[in-house]
Amino acid sequence: MTSLMDPRTPTIVQPRRSQDRALPLIDAPVAGQRDLRPGLSGLSSDALRDWFSQRGEPSYRARQLVDQLWSGRAVSFAEMRTLPAGVRAALDAEFRLDTVADTAVRPADEGLTEKALHILDDGRTIESVLMRYPARGVRRERATICISSQAGCAVGCPFCATGELGFWRDLSTAEIVDQVRFWSRRLAADERRVTNVVFMGMGEPLLNASAVVEAAAALSDPDRFGLGARHITISTSGVVPGIERLTALAPQYTLAVSLHAARDALRDVLVPLNRRWPVEQVVAAATRYADATGRRVTYEYVMIAGINDTLDDAAQTATLLRGRLAHVNLIPMNQVAHTLWQPSDAGRIEAFANVLREVGLHATVRRNRGTEIGAACGQLAAERAARPAPAAVARRREILVERSAAALRDTPPRDTPPRDIPPRDTPPPRESPAPRGATAPNHAGVTSR
Ligand code: SAH
Ligand code: SF4
Repeated sequence: MTSLMDPRTPTIVQPRRSQDRALPLIDAPVAGQRDLRPGLSGLSSDALRDWFSQRGEPSYRARQLVDQLWSGRAVSFAEMRTLPAGVRAALDAEFRLDTVADTAVRPADEGLTEKALHILDDGRTIESVLMRYPARGVRRERATICISSQAGCAVGCPFCATGELGFWRDLSTAEIVDQVRFWSRRLAADERRVTNVVFMGMGEPLLNASAVVEAAAALSDPDRFGLGARHITISTSGVVPGIERLTALAPQYTLAVSLHAARDALRDVLVPLNRRWPVEQVVAAATRYADATGRRVTYEYVMIAGINDTLDDAAQTATLLRGRLAHVNLIPMNQVAHTLWQPSDAGRIEAFANVLREVGLHATVRRNRGTEIGAACGQLAAERAARPAPAAVARRREILVERSAAALRDTPPRDTPPRDIPPRDTPPPRESPAPRGATAPNHAGVTSR
């Protein structure tokens, strides 16, 4: 049995409301007991209307269900009292109201940041984060939810905790939006609401583009979640066909591109997908998105001391992006266990930002939120990673040092693909059960819905 208590994190999250239940996370279903009913929130309004009309039910029933699903607090069909009992039973037989089987929540930043560990029906775990920004001046209070699009990630950026986990599986549309519905219910208890959603949790959104596009459509549909499209950000490490797909739809979402280096030799190391779609192609595709939508693209740049933070790097970034509809967000790297890399210091980040500003680019420095619980966006799953053996960590560090040294000399080891970095101790096979021992070792867990 896995203990939910970790001696290093003795604080137990107290239930916030009477309906909060201390659910036993270890009882989460595992593979073999999968719930095959699709998640209701993955269905379009049209599909729901069809379902009702096929049963001879009046169309207003579909409306009632959509309201309950997207703005209501019901966590079971039984609570949807506006619907007749027969309809509720039929819905329950065919669909899941929630694809998240269980959730543990942990706060940080004096409650301004909270991380949720969601357990899915196959025992896989994903994470989402709430970041609250209190009202400032004329700026209203915001509640940003950072959500996962995949369980794990195949891209393997060496500074990223999720990348270290490896890839488990894509999330369905319902599994993506149910993370937002979870927070929406929780915020509603405090008479607050979700104001922004960012696809910056676990996974590469544009490698699961169909589900992500549908999820963003559901979240921005006025008949469903009703969030303004401009309040949704999709972050990508540079999947060019995915960016092109978004461009064809020309939505008003904010596109964020994880740049991290302006030249291929270095970006090949920091974002291994660069070997498939080099940086020029990525920026060209993002620029076409900006042209098609009129939306400024955000370029994220994780600042790693001595690796990508020199004034030369800044000048190359300025050359690459100048004159484009771009905003550069500099993010001090959050430290992760498997590298010795450190975040750049504040002075270096400011100097970097100034080089960008000199050519007229808009550059800001992001403060990481919730670092004390490893909950900063893009920094998820650190606590969930199977702990690698010290020898494996040491070997991975050695290879990274070698690669980054080569990249700094501008001689990338292109003949050695990134996957020669030694595998994790417990490489997760695709579609196999999550290791039981990986269940929330560091979460002082109390569940809430
Ligand atoms: N896969 C997508 C979205 C998830 S990652 C992407 O890479 O864009 C979201 C952001 O968090 C990315 O910009 C990523 O580079 C950043 N990130 C990952 N690990 C980080 C770390 N250790 N410190 C700071 N930012 C990190
Ligand atoms: Fe995947 Fe994004 Fe992490 Fe890279 S930074 S490994 S793309 S989640």
